[in-house]
Amino acid sequence: MIQVKNLSKNYGDVKAVKSINFEINDGEIVGFLGANGAGKSTTLKMITGYLTPTDGDVIVNGLDIQEHQLEVQKQIGYLPELNPLYGEMKVYDLLEFTANIRGIKGKKFREALVRVLEQCSLKGVIHKQISDCSKGYKQRIGLACAMIHDPKILILDEPVTGLDPNQIVEIRELIKSLGKEKLVLMSSHILQEIQLTVDRIIIINNGEIVADGTNEELMAGFMGNTQLSVELKNCTNEGIDELVATIPGLTLNSVDQKNGSHFASFEYAKDEDPRESLFNHAVKSNWVITEMTSHTAGLESIFRTLTMEEK
Ligand code: ATP
Repeated sequence: MIQVKNLSKNYGDVKAVKSINFEINDGEIVGFLGANGAGKSTTLKMITGYLTPTDGDVIVNGLDIQEHQLEVQKQIGYLPELNPLYGEMKVYDLLEFTANIRGIKGKKFREALVRVLEQCSLKGVIHKQISDCSKGYKQRIGLACAMIHDPKILILDEPVTGLDPNQIVEIRELIKSLGKEKLVLMSSHILQEIQLTVDRIIIINNGEIVADGTNEELMAGFMGNTQLSVELKNCTNEGIDELVATIPGLTLNSVDQKNGSHFASFEYAKDEDPRESLFNHAVKSNWVITEMTSHTAGLESIFRTLTMEEK
C-alpha cells in the first residue's frame, strides 16, 4: 500500500507538487495522468525515494520512505521516464549486474533470471547487445531490471512513450498481467493509454490532484448535462417552444431550420431522460423525428476541462 500525505516539492520558486494526497491499495493498477510539466515525474521520484520532498510524507507498506529508504526501495521496482540502459552491455550481463547490486547472486540470480525472462518475454534476446534491441524490447529490459528483485510495487514513469502501436499493445498487456499480483502505479500523458490499462485514474494538473476515481466514477462525477440533438420534420419554432415548456428538465440550446427540417439542440440533467416524452409529444403533434442523438461527456473532455484551466 502507498500513502501519499500532503506531499509537496519546490524547485526554487517552482512549486512542482502542491500538498497532494492519495492512497493506493495492493492489487490496484493506477494511472497517474497529467499534461507535460504537471508534476508526475516529480511525484514518482518522491514515492520511490529518489527525491526528497519539500514537505509531506510517503508511507509504503507502513514504512516512512524518509526514515526507511532502503527497506522501501527493496519493495519497489522503478522504471524511470528515460529508461536508462547501458547499450554496450548484453541483456544477460545487465540483468546479472542489476541483480548483483541488489545482492541477488548465484542460485537466487538464476531463479530471478528465469522469472523475469518469462514475465517480460525476453528469452529471444538474452545474448543480444542492448543497443541492437528494438525500443519495445528495451522497455521490456528496463522492466525486467525493475523487477529482478520481485518487488511488490511497480512504479512506471511513462512506460509506453515513444513506442509504436504494436509495442504499446505488448507493453500494455505485460503491465496488465503484472498488475494481477502487484500494485502498479504508471504515469502517462496519453489518456487513451491510461484508460485501456488501469483500474483507477489520478489526474494531476499544475502540481495538484484534480480527479481520482475509476473511469466510470470520473465520468459520473464530472458529467454535466447530457446534450440531445434532434432533427424534426413538420415542426415549427412555436412547436419547439411548447415542447420545452411541456417536458420538465429540458432546455433548448439552439435551433436551426434547413430544407424543411428543424435541427434542435437540447440539454437535460443526466437523471431526467426526456427522450420518451419527446417522442410521444412528436407523435401527438404529427412531427417526424428523423434523427435523435444524445452525447455525454467523455473522459477526454473531462481531462481537457480539468487540465486546460489557466495556470
Ligand atoms: P512530463 O510529462 O513533461 O515529464 P511531468 O508531469 O512529469 O512532466 P515534472 O517533470 O514533474 O512534470 O515537472 C513538474 C514541474 O517542475 C515542471 O514545471 C518542471 O519544469 C519543473 N521541474 C522538474 N524538474 C525540475 C528540476 N530538476 N529543476 C527545476 N524545475 C524542475
